[in-house]
Amino acid sequence: MVRALRHSANAPPQVASGSMALTVVGSIAYDSVRTPFGHRERMLGGAATHFALAASFFDEVRAVGPVGDDFTDADLAILATRGTSTDDVERVAGGETFFWAGEYGWDLNSRDTLETRLGVFETFEPKLSDASRDADTVFLANIQPDIQQAVRDQCTNARFVAMDSMDLWIDIAKESLEKVISSVDCVILNDAELRQLTRKPNLVAAAREVLSWGPKAVVGKQGEYGAALFTKDGFFSLPAYPLENVIDPTGAGDTFAGGFVGYVAAHTDQEINHDLLVRAMAYGTALASFNVEEFGTERVARLAPREVLVRVAELERITRFTDVPLELRG
Ligand code: AMP
Repeated sequence: MVRALRHSANAPPQVASGSMALTVVGSIAYDSVRTPFGHRERMLGGAATHFALAASFFDEVRAVGPVGDDFTDADLAILATRGTSTDDVERVAGGETFFWAGEYGWDLNSRDTLETRLGVFETFEPKLSDASRDADTVFLANIQPDIQQAVRDQCTNARFVAMDSMDLWIDIAKESLEKVISSVDCVILNDAELRQLTRKPNLVAAAREVLSWGPKAVVGKQGEYGAALFTKDGFFSLPAYPLENVIDPTGAGDTFAGGFVGYVAAHTDQEINHDLLVRAMAYGTALASFNVEEFGTERVARLAPREVLVRVAELERITRFTDVPLELRG
């Protein structure tokens, strides 16, 4: 297990064998967030950013996406944490970085989007460098589905392509979204989004429906209740790591995806089967638990590999469920 994580913050990647980089496209953003525990104005965020910060524990990540000239060098340096390549982050002169504002309810289970400004993503046409195109693992983080598709179509060598999305794109770009879904190996969505997408009120039925569209795996994220994995070979579920102090859930889903897909990227020498994805779920869950402990990228940016490993081991301990004697009256 220990070998699955890259060890030093700035050392060259020490990746488990068989890895050839992980390309991610998705929002690179400024977020204004209010939770019951405080607020931040224009902090670094975005789906691709949170994903990269987590996935960079496992593999060399290549971030793809535009930013405006309001994007600071300091934030670019945070995106580059643990060696993430920002070569394909395009700075658009005169453009505005993607901006999102959101507010959480008292128990952090509900979130209202107050504002979304696509900015430089409105006209973005991804042109990947050879290195990003050749990655053998790809994550299409949350962004307009046509942009996801353009990246997916360029990455013809990828062995594992996963994707996320959100209710906005189900509402306004469902046809494009369904096309992307049918072209990937794994879909990672919130449980409510899986229901909305398939119009099936039951999560198991909704996940089975998405599997029938082409992907080999579906992950239903359930916020503080954890995540569920569906493949043709079975089902697996993990609770979230139990935390008493949650400060800001923004990016938890993307951080989960970074741990999950990052783990797969670090094991491309192995068959990508149900058991491998089960182990990936543990890493995704452990990483997401750190993300929510502070605002935005603050916690995961300074996270150490050992801290992640401790939580993975703890998750294993609290969910182990064997040797239960089968005994009932009657
Ligand atoms: P999550 O909390 O995992 O749903 O992700 C939150 C991140 O998603 C924030 O950092 C936002 O910048 C980003 N985000 C919010 N709305 C969108 C959108 N419509 N498209 C892409 N990214 C978004």
